[in-house]
Amino acid sequence: MPVSQDELQAMAYTDPLTGLGNRYRMRDKVRLLSAERASDPAPFTIGIANLDSFKPINDLFGSAAGDEILCQVAHRLKACIPDGAIVIRHGGDEFAFVLPLVFERAGAEKFGQMIREVLSAPYDLGDRNVRLSASFGFAIYPFAGEEFEDLLKSAETALYRSKRRGRGQITVYSKEIALEMRRATQLEQALRNAIISDAIDVHFQPIVSLSNSVAVGFEALARWSDPDLGFVSPAVFVPLAEERGFIDALSETLLRKAAEAALSWPRELFLSFNLSSVQLMDPGTTNSILAILGRVGFDPHRLELEITETAVMSSADTAHRILSDLRQAGVRISLDDFGTGQSSLGRLRDFMFDKIKIDRAFVSRINSDRASEHIVKAILAMCEGLDLEVVAEGIEDYAEAVKLRALGCGMGQGYYFGKPADAIATLRYLQEKYYDFGATDRVPA
Ligand code: C2E
Ligand code: MG
Ligand code: MG
Repeated sequence: MPVSQDELQAMAYTDPLTGLGNRYRMRDKVRLLSAERASDPAPFTIGIANLDSFKPINDLFGSAAGDEILCQVAHRLKACIPDGAIVIRHGGDEFAFVLPLVFERAGAEKFGQMIREVLSAPYDLGDRNVRLSASFGFAIYPFAGEEFEDLLKSAETALYRSKRRGRGQITVYSKEIALEMRRATQLEQALRNAIISDAIDVHFQPIVSLSNSVAVGFEALARWSDPDLGFVSPAVFVPLAEERGFIDALSETLLRKAAEAALSWPRELFLSFNLSSVQLMDPGTTNSILAILGRVGFDPHRLELEITETAVMSSADTAHRILSDLRQAGVRISLDDFGTGQSSLGRLRDFMFDKIKIDRAFVSRINSDRASEHIVKAILAMCEGLDLEVVAEGIEDYAEAVKLRALGCGMGQGYYFGKPADAIATLRYLQEKYYDFGATDRVPA
């Protein structure tokens, strides 16, 4: 039987899998609404919902199960959207809404929360149940765009921000959010280019023995100055590289540069290098680190890796294996920023640490706040009992250094002893301050 004009029309506007409308249906609805409201532009809202981690479910259970979930999602959405509103399948694991009676941010957020709740109940796959969360982006007409394409782009920007912030987030588009996303994208592009063009540098900050203020090693700290963006703190770009999945490339470059520079130091000085928490979840990390050391010719016994408590907590088994393999190869492990993370003293026994770095938060209050002093005392006593070395971070003045030494802290680091400096300045520092560092073969010409 030939297909009628009406049937063709319906097919062109329908998603074959879920039976919901498709993008064209949404476009027409938005155009209709904005035409209706042209003379008196009362706001309305569009939204996009994207399922979090849908792909792994598809991969794990097969595409038939994936399709089944999409149909159940569609069914739930259709059942709960308000009168006059429409829900469509926007493609893949994405659904979209047109909400004629939502006029402002609070209303959009409330709708998002309701849908998030509805989608969070388990999905029945016959022999098993799965749970899913969804991220949301909303855009309000006409502020976020007068044309359909612009309005949709705004909703996508809002969704992108939600996705970047983790699962189950709800964002309503605003100019500030657009700016924030533009900056983040610009920063990310610039950082990728900087890694490729080898423009990220490493600086070194001395770690001294508090008994005589002589350097025993240096901590490598990443430095990046972009021609347009200026100086960007590692506290900003390291998490960005982690989030966007290129921390490996960044860290490999940094370790190579740091180890190369450290080759010119006296042999008894160690190099302390910060390992990102993401790397502690990646079983390839051990080999990658040892391969770099091998290529550079840097003795693993001279390397210390600084890790944080949070990093160890998040993926304990993998982290444990990485750390024990590295220790087997002679690398030492220090626990950075101690006292600020999700401290679990039990971890100190489970993991084989060699050193604890007491966070600056306690050090900088040691002479003004009795509680901080007691905490530092307790950490020192505990480390002595567990046979761990201790470094106090962020020592900025003489009084702090004296106090920490009096309390029995072995090592210190901070502006008082030396700010982070580039490789050449570090060699100069060693010539001036390091007693055993004569003008011998160790200094390159
Ligand atoms: P962190 O590992 O705890 O490093 C110590 C931070 O304290 C450094 O900040 C250092 O410059 C700063 N600092 C040292 N002494 C003083 C002081 O006396 N007073 C004050 N106010 N600050 C002091 P920076 O270089 O900005 O690095 C920030 C964080 O970024 C680091 O904290 C570390 O978590 C991360 N980071 C830096 N370089 C790398 C890297 O190569 N790889 C990874 N994964 N993370 C890095
Ligand atoms: Mg550190
Ligand atoms: Mg630290």
